[in-house]
Amino acid sequence: MKLLVIGSGGREHALVWKLAQSPHVLRLWCAPGNAGIAQERLAKGGGLVECVNVGAEDLPKLLAFALAEKIDLTVVGPDNPLALGIVDLFQTNGLRIWGPNQRAAKFESSKAFTQEFLERYGIPTARSAVFSEASAAKAFAASLAGRCAVKADGLALGKGVLICSGPAEADQAIEDILVRKSFGPAGTHIVIQEFLEGTEISLHAICDGKTAKLFPTSQDHKRALDGDQGPNTGGMGTYSPAPFLTGAALAEAERMILRPWLEGCAAEGIDFHGIIYPGLMLTRSGPKVLEFNARFGDPETQVYLPRLENDLVELLEASVDGSLDRIELKWNPMSTVCVVLASGGYPGSYAKGKSIQGLDAAASMPNVKVFHAGTARAGGQVVTNGGRVLGVTALGKDLRAARDLAYAAAERIAFEGGFFRRDIAGKALMGTE
Ligand code: AMP
Repeated sequence: MKLLVIGSGGREHALVWKLAQSPHVLRLWCAPGNAGIAQERLAKGGGLVECVNVGAEDLPKLLAFALAEKIDLTVVGPDNPLALGIVDLFQTNGLRIWGPNQRAAKFESSKAFTQEFLERYGIPTARSAVFSEASAAKAFAASLAGRCAVKADGLALGKGVLICSGPAEADQAIEDILVRKSFGPAGTHIVIQEFLEGTEISLHAICDGKTAKLFPTSQDHKRALDGDQGPNTGGMGTYSPAPFLTGAALAEAERMILRPWLEGCAAEGIDFHGIIYPGLMLTRSGPKVLEFNARFGDPETQVYLPRLENDLVELLEASVDGSLDRIELKWNPMSTVCVVLASGGYPGSYAKGKSIQGLDAAASMPNVKVFHAGTARAGGQVVTNGGRVLGVTALGKDLRAARDLAYAAAERIAFEGGFFRRDIAGKALMGTE
């Protein structure tokens, strides 16, 4: 088969790396890819993965490429092309593509749509309401004593959520998003949710329109600095499994969240093929949905795929075809930890083009895989090309072994200004060391 993966981050490197292991794949392209993706080789035939210089949101060029190369299956990594309708466009042109169509991708591209859907189907979520008018929004925020999350409805590069601890802050957030449009048209509507306390966790399930199969647990670290300090980022590290959800709690989440979600999709004719990835807060009164994403989480993918034992091509094909009920997901019982190496200044402004040392030394360690996120090749060297540069992932017999190995590998890598969190998986290991 000929495959095309769309995207350029750590998630796409992990997807490409895993897809390249499948004996079904004879050629594999990635648009636009990165320096690490371009070094991957196919298990069958040993050919290199080829990066194509087309952006993930340039739908006409991606379509032209897929038609010209007669791509058998396109795999979409990021949310933006899904929200722009890449799946509908490819399918209209007779191409097979994995990911939700534009209507199904609304679970991520519209928080207002999702919030109303959750309430229609009795799926546990925060007390909330949707607004397009500031005074009603402020009155609702006041009824929550200002302790709330104010969220732009549309996609805002992961930044459209403001957490407020009192009425003045809430009024300010409502003014910023709804009136001053600081996130642009994404803020034409807002969702206000009561502030939920608890442990945050993400779930992933692969869906084929009828069946949804849950992945094991994982946990991301959103803040830039140790101890969950500093600004929010796209994710500074992950680990799997996460010990906060027992098997019974996972089964409860499946029953309370996934099943009614699938039933709601069926009732409304939403044909969801892809990954549904709810962000949950584990509160004292049970798990509650904060949001849905409609694609793989970037740092989560880097800890899931090294544990996945199924052939990823077969799994994605079953998700496209509606035959997931015939597939049993198989997971390596080992643990994985991914430590993100970021450019100094991230998530604010940062320099690019810094040469990266020690990649080969880290990659030569058994059970270590260095996924590239923001890298490029310049003058025969691998250089930094983004905020999150690398995801150093290790497999270990337990979380501690995986964590120690991931840090030992991360220590071998250096670039000017680079930094990483030292406490990835720390919460899970707390009390055990
Ligand atoms: P979202 O993009 O909706 O997941 O929001 C981004 C982040 O804001 C989440 O990962 C949480 O850490 C936080 N957050 C969102 N909604 C709430 C809420 N209702 N209560 C507490 N924290 C929240």
